[in-house]
Amino acid sequence: MPLQICFAASEVAPFAKTGGLADVAGALPSSLHRQGHDVRVFMPLYSSIDARYRDLKNVDGVQNVTVQLGVHSVSFSLREGVLPGTSLPMYFVHCPPMFGRSAIYSRDPDEHLRFLLFQRAILESCQRLRFAPQILHCNDWHLGMLPLMLKTTYAWDQLFAGTRSLLSIHNIGYQGIFPSGTLNDLGIAEPLRYLHRADLAAGRINWLYEGIVHADTVSTVSPTYAQEICTPAGGHGLDTALRERVAAGQEVVGILNGVDYRVWNPAVDHYLRERYEPEHLAGKALCKAELLKGRHLTAGLDTPLIGLVSRLALQKGIDLLFDSLPEVLGSRDVALVVLGSGEEHFEHFFTDLQARFPGRVSFTRGYNEALAHLIEAGADMFLMPSLYEPCGLNQMYSLKYGTIPIVRRTGGLADSVQMWDGASGEGTGVVFNDYDVPAVVWALNTALDLFQDSANWRRMMLNAMNKDYSWDHQAHEYVALYERMIG
Ligand code: ADP
Repeated sequence: MPLQICFAASEVAPFAKTGGLADVAGALPSSLHRQGHDVRVFMPLYSSIDARYRDLKNVDGVQNVTVQLGVHSVSFSLREGVLPGTSLPMYFVHCPPMFGRSAIYSRDPDEHLRFLLFQRAILESCQRLRFAPQILHCNDWHLGMLPLMLKTTYAWDQLFAGTRSLLSIHNIGYQGIFPSGTLNDLGIAEPLRYLHRADLAAGRINWLYEGIVHADTVSTVSPTYAQEICTPAGGHGLDTALRERVAAGQEVVGILNGVDYRVWNPAVDHYLRERYEPEHLAGKALCKAELLKGRHLTAGLDTPLIGLVSRLALQKGIDLLFDSLPEVLGSRDVALVVLGSGEEHFEHFFTDLQARFPGRVSFTRGYNEALAHLIEAGADMFLMPSLYEPCGLNQMYSLKYGTIPIVRRTGGLADSVQMWDGASGEGTGVVFNDYDVPAVVWALNTALDLFQDSANWRRMMLNAMNKDYSWDHQAHEYVALYERMIG
């Protein structure tokens, strides 16, 4: 039976993207749509969305709708289009005062109003479209208040009588915590009955917490992360709320993200001048040559090249590299290409490293989709020493590109990369356990040693390239979950 699904996210690739959420929010619904489900995706119409994606139609009956957020009257209109390259329906919430800003997320004092408007607009739009979703799939804190809105402000509407809410946590480190002075803007009658009292007493409202408590089902993006967030070490303060759900018999479901192999696949990647596949690997060396040249690296083709594409945040384990990378670069024949931006001291570190190892280290500061693809293709290894990693996509992209991931055993990294075993010839990467410098040094040296053994290296590459982490496979797990939710 086709399901009716309302899927809401604050970012959807290729319209707006700061991280893996956008990739998921583009690929999962389109996979569900291909399977015949009635999925409709909602996102804000940010002014930063590229002009080529802004050829959208006004949706009749959902124009200039005014929503009251406390004392603030805000109007929105709904626009519609499709996800590029698909027929997946996309709905955009158009509200220039809220979304006409320079970036997707802001530190403006009305940030909460931006995403309250978004959430209200989704339900107001469903009402006007007479769309009765069986599943309201909410992603991350930006949609954290939606399950409660469904149970309170919109509970009167029979349209939603059969709607079940799912909150998917893509990163529990980001929670959407606002001052309790924003209480009235939520528009929820009897808020004290529903909201976390201790939080309110402490002067705050935590949207992700409210989502965890009020959603019918909670999921996250890998089985290992589902366990980790239920522990004090991994829960970022929300583990108690999650454990209480589990104790009450409600599962915290872990479903590994998938990869959109129409976008991330060296056989079809339109960012690459040379394409390749497991049976014809010559193109990979050409990608490496192009990458070395383009990044002004003088290291030869035989020198192992490590890639790193990341937000430069503590979560990504960058602080472990301060001591480990200089040690390995100082003692081994190896080159490094880094793309990313984020915390200033991490950016400085890579800038200094580039100056210290000229011709062997390249650091490109910023966000660059084309270069991210070329690094996946041209590097020999891909480094992800994450402190925590809910799922992580780059290691799965790396597998497909035959670029051996070097990862810490955490979250989705643990679920998607298997340590190479020389005896059996099985395994797809190098995996280390401890979050410390000696462990990273060990992992890098292990990978560099393995690289010298070209026959086994090739075997590991082929193991990696032949793994299937496609969305079409993972989307079935979501369908099974949706079906459990609606009974
Ligand atoms: P997270 O969502 O925590 O940032 P993921 O590994 O789940 O990490 O997803 C990161 C996504 O963002 C990948 O598609 C990756 O290629 C992309 N990405 C991260 N940093 C950059 C960058 N500087 N330039 C281009 N793409 C980037």
